[in-house]
Amino acid sequence: MKFGGTSVEDARAFVRVARIVGARREEHPVVVVSAMSRVTDALLASVETAAAGNADAALSSLEEHFERHTLVTRILPVGARDELFLELELARRELGELLRRVASKQEPCPPLRDEIVSYGECLSAKLLAAVLAERALPAAYVDARRCVITDDAHGSATPANDATYEHTRAELSPLLAAGRIPVLGGYIGSTAGGRRTTTLGRGGSDYTAALVGAGIGAREIQIWTDVNGVLTADPRVVPHARTIPSLSFAEAAELAYFGAKVLHPKTILPAVIRGIPVRICNSRDPEQPGTGVYFDAEMSPRTVKAIAHKKGITVLHITSARMLGAFGFLRALFEVFERHRTIIDIVTTSEVSVSLSLEDTSKVDEIVRDLRPIAAVKVESDLAVVCIVGEELRYTSGIAARIFSTLRDINVLLISQGASNVNLTFVVAEREVEETVRRLHASLFECDTQDLAPLFQRRQEGVSR
Ligand code: ADP
Ligand code: ASP
Ligand code: MG
Repeated sequence: MKFGGTSVEDARAFVRVARIVGARREEHPVVVVSAMSRVTDALLASVETAAAGNADAALSSLEEHFERHTLVTRILPVGARDELFLELELARRELGELLRRVASKQEPCPPLRDEIVSYGECLSAKLLAAVLAERALPAAYVDARRCVITDDAHGSATPANDATYEHTRAELSPLLAAGRIPVLGGYIGSTAGGRRTTTLGRGGSDYTAALVGAGIGAREIQIWTDVNGVLTADPRVVPHARTIPSLSFAEAAELAYFGAKVLHPKTILPAVIRGIPVRICNSRDPEQPGTGVYFDAEMSPRTVKAIAHKKGITVLHITSARMLGAFGFLRALFEVFERHRTIIDIVTTSEVSVSLSLEDTSKVDEIVRDLRPIAAVKVESDLAVVCIVGEELRYTSGIAARIFSTLRDINVLLISQGASNVNLTFVVAEREVEETVRRLHASLFECDTQDLAPLFQRRQEGVSR
């Protein structure tokens, strides 16, 4: 059971989580918890302030969050409260020291940053273990860094799966056998031998939950958050978006990758490898059924399950006459991206040009420089990707016409369909993406199902063919 930052935002939220865990005690849960909401942002900002030379201001900026943690300790009985109070004091002292080390600039910043940021998850996990214990639940705090073993790519480390599974089992199995409820922080790990703290990338607690679930062979991985599951669109853009009862692993992976923040993109893989279903539930309304992610989720009669979007996209248009009738050109081109460790999202090609979209633009200047000898490059930024997801989308005639007629007056840049069965992806200007998503939602989800029945029938025929 993984509880996100919004599920542990204050003392009341901690009590809600304790109730949810308590109600499932017989199922032998393992609990993974994120930092309290906004704490990771604050810790990262404090590192920036310290790096600019002001360690004292950096520590003061965290005061409001120490206060939030202290307020949670008030719901504990005196002994436990005192213990956690001391824990918070120790954290304050250690963070002060770490921030001074950042300010002194004598050591590389990324490892220090991960060390500092890990306090968010460590503290919330210790608090939650204490809140559970206070309710007679036999919780045991576990340092997640003893379970999740990663490489040393600080800020977005990659776990070594086998080592992680092995360590996770070694740490958790004895506790589970003794009837305890292990509680660990998400998002954080360590390099082999526990030498340095690492983090898995923003939103990475979902990933920890999946790794831990896979490690112990959980029956289900539950992601508890602040919405009723995966919705048909981002609720901040489409407030009346609906909960999707079930998704296939492929659909969930595409949605997460193309922007549905409710699930970290890497969460699905460990679950797929071990065939463990994932359920997304609402910690504010635990009776809701949520969204189940399974190997073979039912096909939606609407074919389209959801619309995801992601802002901050840059497209490179690469043109070269040398491409005409030549082989090896694409390899030369992609090698440049490989060299600069930059992931490409969408690729479209014509006779003499290739357009591709990137989210990570930190190396764009170097990439363009290295491409220039083989091609002309135009860079277009402030774009967004829109991704429409549904199993069997490819076999559904009429869907593309419906989608693009809805967007008649919106300029669509790159279109990609057919690479997987489950998505249709395209790029629009960032300023138009919200309007795009709203219109598509209205067209695909807010009409009468009758309207889509003929499409569904055709799709069925396509499948049997
Ligand atoms: P947590 O703190 O639990 O990890 P997140 O903020 O990371 O929560 O993710 C939940 C949020 O994801 C929701 O509050 C919602 O605003 C956003 N979101 C974006 N797209 C979707 C979607 N398709 N379905 C559900 N939530 C979405
Ligand atoms: N606390 C981390 C973050 O804010 C990890 C998470 O919430 O999943 O990114
Ligand atoms: Mg999250």
